[in-house]
Amino acid sequence: MSIPETVDVVVLGAGLAGHCAALSAAENGASVLLLEKADNFGGSTASGPGSFAFAATPLQKKLGIDDSLERLRRDLIDAGGGKAREDLIDAYVRLQLATYEWMVGLGFRFERVEASTYQSVPRSHPISGAHVVTVLHDRLLGCDKACFVADARGLRLERDTDGRVRRVAYQHGGDELRTAVNGGVVICTGGFARSDRLIEKFAPEFVNAVRMGGMANEGDGLLMAWALGADLIDTGWLSGTFGASLNHYPDLADRSGRGSILMHPIFKGGIAVNRHARRFADESGSYKITGRLCLEQPDAVAFQVFDQNTMDASVPGMMPRDFRAGFEKGLVRTAGTIAELAQTVGLDPDALEATVARYNGFVQAGHDPEFGRMHLIGAIGELTPIARAPFYIYPCTTALLSTYGGIAVDDQTRVLDVHGQAIAGLFAAGEVTGGLHGTAYLSGSSLAKAAIFGRLAGANAARAAR
Ligand SMILES: Cc1cc2nc3c(=O)[nH]c(=O)nc-3n(C[C@H](O)[C@H](O)[C@H](O)COP(=O)(O)OP(=O)(O)OC[C@H]3O[C@@H](n4cnc5c(N)ncnc54)[C@H](O)[C@@H]3O)c2cc1C
Repeated sequence: MSIPETVDVVVLGAGLAGHCAALSAAENGASVLLLEKADNFGGSTASGPGSFAFAATPLQKKLGIDDSLERLRRDLIDAGGGKAREDLIDAYVRLQLATYEWMVGLGFRFERVEASTYQSVPRSHPISGAHVVTVLHDRLLGCDKACFVADARGLRLERDTDGRVRRVAYQHGGDELRTAVNGGVVICTGGFARSDRLIEKFAPEFVNAVRMGGMANEGDGLLMAWALGADLIDTGWLSGTFGASLNHYPDLADRSGRGSILMHPIFKGGIAVNRHARRFADESGSYKITGRLCLEQPDAVAFQVFDQNTMDASVPGMMPRDFRAGFEKGLVRTAGTIAELAQTVGLDPDALEATVARYNGFVQAGHDPEFGRMHLIGAIGELTPIARAPFYIYPCTTALLSTYGGIAVDDQTRVLDVHGQAIAGLFAAGEVTGGLHGTAYLSGSSLAKAAIFGRLAGANAARAAR
């Protein structure tokens, strides 16, 4: 199929938001061109294990989890620390169940619900992101008026004299091409974790974090919108995720994130210590907060220490809970005593023994005077001592997976300029946008927002063509 010179909708970026936007534009009768910079679709969506934060789902009900839309709304507002945009939260809350049902209708099977950060009840619905985006891609290829082009990097958005965005310029096969749009352009180019330039600009404290996610996620879409006067929001609240493997420990040089995994034995009974074998956080708190604290530790390195009970709580096939898989990859060391365990990674054995003994004492007393830890994760789960041999230790650090802040949009996904006015013909969805998360991210809300707002953006761009 040749690349069309004019379409109703152009979508930039073929991750989750881009596929949802393109499909929804096609379902609304629009002709659509989906352009992807990398040589294949998927982006960050395909690189993570994938959990969607949905509330009041039939699966939660079946599992006896008492959730509600109001509870989700409150949790999102609390997570955002008073900085998240309530119009976006309201749109998320209003549309999320329909998005869950749409996914179920497409054949996706949600089978478990897990508790995670900032969720007052278990709300993470795990499913492989790679699987989701592959199924959506096949479905898109089946649409008559949809065209997908890989190795096509969006470069610029061009406006008519009336200010409306009318053309997209992109690089493909060594040429610069242009496609005109009747309806709108939807920017779905993901985050900017792979751009040193933007990380240095917005969050220099993360320059040393391991980078994970889509290799082509360099903030192109953010820059394209910025060049047209778009406002940016939440870029001051970037956060990293604790628990990324140090693949070549004790060699700390490789922070590319290639082949890195995430694991959180701390949420099933472990603790986190630094190079001095000292705890540095309430481990039940957000992995974003622990992630920030980890970057402040010597060499930005931490060690999750846990026992056989925690290893037995491993959830096969589900990162970041599949501790056995991490062990089999050689990322976790083991020993029969805490002192021997310390030696496997060069920690002071006496110091680690003392830390574990002190922590076990806090668990027994029901009071952690050092960091105030009360639960395994958030307000969920009873603490257990680290007592059953063999013991395990996982050297890790903080990774920048997603960048949460970005282009300002309204609750219809229209891109807003610095004066709060919508830029005609321009929409954005997914990780390239800011506003929903505020100061912190409720676990699972990044994938869900890509699907929820991607669908909305595609429908709105299609409508604009009429
Ligand atoms: C390891 C890992 C685990 C994660 N786990 C979770 C989780 O459990 N729950 C959760 O909610 N979130 C999670 N996230 C975050 C979540 O995966 C992302 O926020 C989400 O997938 C973003 O979707 P997206 O469609 O906006 O962007 P992406 O999926 O990154 O897609 C963006 C696409 O745009 C393309 N692109 C970039 N520039 C251009 C250009 N100039 N022209 C054309 N195309 C371009 C990219 O190549 C990419 O394919 C995780 C992220 C990682 C890395």
